Amino acid sequence: MNYRIQNLFILFFTFLSLTLNAQKVIHILPLGNVNDDVLNVIESAVYEFYGYKCVVSTKVPFTKDILADSKTRYEAGKILAKYKSNKNLLIITEKDIASKKGDVKEWGIFGLGYRPGQTCVVSTFRIKRKATITVFKERLKKVCIHEIGHNLGLNHCTSGNLKCLMNDAKGTIKQVDRESLYFCAQCVRFLKAL
Ligand SMILES: [Zn+2]
Ligand SMILES: [Zn+2]
Repeated sequence: MNYRIQNLFILFFTFLSLTLNAQKVIHILPLGNVNDDVLNVIESAVYEFYGYKCVVSTKVPFTKDILADSKTRYEAGKILAKYKSNKNLLIITEKDIASKKGDVKEWGIFGLGYRPGQTCVVSTFRIKRKATITVFKERLKKVCIHEIGHNLGLNHCTSGNLKCLMNDAKGTIKQVDRESLYFCAQCVRFLKAL
């Protein structure tokens, strides 16, 4: 991407941030121990992309009721249901989370969010694999922005633009890496109509 286009994007997203509710606050809830760097990356990405301020809440412990059947990981749906909130909440954990997908009872995922809704969960476990710090941080930003997008009502992107952050990753990190910190025109139109 050349610099002029990049600057245009920055202008565009600044505009997007301003047109969305700039007063909106997102509460970040650490589930178990979460590295401070992770929290900082999320806070700045959410502010830069959406213009929403983040408030980090006191961490909550892992409990048996949110374990998946195998007891080896946590079930994203159970986490959402347990912490479902009427304030905007992003739950972040370093442990593996899974969700049912077709015949697979526990499909490991990067994140899950209500659509629409006010609660989403993101796990660093799979996005950290074989990643440099830089790649890890990029992935983390993208997954958080994607899940908040679902909360805002966005469905998976159907524009065919594989760089759009709202594409369905289908469990592959390759798709996340292919994306830019960007929503396609179709997804932006949806948000602006809110
Ligand atoms: Zn999604
Ligand atoms: Zn899109």
